[in-house]
Amino acid sequence: MMMEQLGDKKWGFQRNQELEASSISVRGVLKQLMANRNEEDQRSTIPLGGADPSMYPSYRTTPFVADAVADAVRSFNFNSYASNVEHLSKDLPYQLSADDVYLTVGCTQAIEIVVSVLSRPGANILLPRPGYPQYASRVGCSSLEARHFDLMPENGWEVDLDSVEALADENTVAMVIINPSNPCGNVFIYQHLKKIAETARKLGIFVISDEVYGHLAFGSNPFVPMGMFGSIVPVLTLGSLSKRWIVPGWRLGWIVTSDLNGIFQESGFAESLRSHLEITADPPTFMQGALTQILEQTKEDFFSKILNIMREDADFLYERIKEIPCLTCPHKPEGSMVVMVKLNLSLLEGVTDDVDFCMKLAKEESVIVLPGIALGLKNWLRISFAVEHSLLDDALGRIKAFYNKHAKKEY
Ligand SMILES: *Cc1c(COP(=O)(O)O)cnc(C)c1O
Repeated sequence: MMMEQLGDKKWGFQRNQELEASSISVRGVLKQLMANRNEEDQRSTIPLGGADPSMYPSYRTTPFVADAVADAVRSFNFNSYASNVEHLSKDLPYQLSADDVYLTVGCTQAIEIVVSVLSRPGANILLPRPGYPQYASRVGCSSLEARHFDLMPENGWEVDLDSVEALADENTVAMVIINPSNPCGNVFIYQHLKKIAETARKLGIFVISDEVYGHLAFGSNPFVPMGMFGSIVPVLTLGSLSKRWIVPGWRLGWIVTSDLNGIFQESGFAESLRSHLEITADPPTFMQGALTQILEQTKEDFFSKILNIMREDADFLYERIKEIPCLTCPHKPEGSMVVMVKLNLSLLEGVTDDVDFCMKLAKEESVIVLPGIALGLKNWLRISFAVEHSLLDDALGRIKAFYNKHAKKEY
């Protein structure tokens, strides 16, 4: 075909408006902030915007898991396509069966799969605000409608169950919770999780519990898996090795179903999930091969070392934020790697909102933090404390200096 003719040809592709509108990602926002830095600044950039501490010596994963993966590769037992997904079991008051567990390419693919399976025209799903933007973006690519319920900072970021009830209708399929919470840094107590389960049961909706930060709880509230309440409501638990083992690049995650009343079977959800898994990519076979060893034999002292570091740095951040008048942290972080901090713009001169704050902070101080609007909460910030201690210390000094420079003068 001649080139001139090609130019006249009409192509089938048109941009998907839904995708454009909903494609907010943490990565995209961070890229913009990084691009706004001042190249003349001799100081190194301190990234408190993401939650991947794997490059820091204090957060290095244990050599044990590297050996488990190397052993799996060297065995040559995992070179074929996966014939069947490998299975894992967890610490619940009842036994999971192999049929309850599906391995995925990180928690990200678990989100993708669950949203796809729940999706049908006219249906809606309830997402937390503030939340993890991957959910809204993924829902934007499906035929589900996203509705947002509130998390309440004044109540330790518990779910506003009244807003859940007000949003739900007969087309609501599920609600999402993230525990320990990204972005809030809180850990839900047993009683609150039970109330969430009872509310969801009353509304006839499934609970999707994102536990990618499962067991990363270092405050007074112990981590309670939502699967505990699988007798009240059907629960889909999403998880991965990424955060607890600090190997986000290894891309191994899972979906676990906890449903003692067989609702997933009866409603056809289980069948849909299985058929969907027939057409999705499986995680690398050697990761599947190494998984049992990693889950069962990683030494407790690795986890306790990491938790101690996180507790110290979370406390440190919480105390230092108190010295910066334009920031308040309503709830001391007790889990995950991040926390939400409220921005008081009335104390600042020439800073219009959270995005402006983050852009100027990147430019003037080479410190990267995430604007709350990216998570659905305007004029808040999400700060990650999972970095080397000296960097956190340095970053907080720079944020304080930024405040002093932009503080509203009193007349
Ligand atoms: C990091 C994160 C994920 C994605 O996990 P991967 O295993 O890296 O795909 C999902 N949900 C939340 C809340 C996260 O913070």
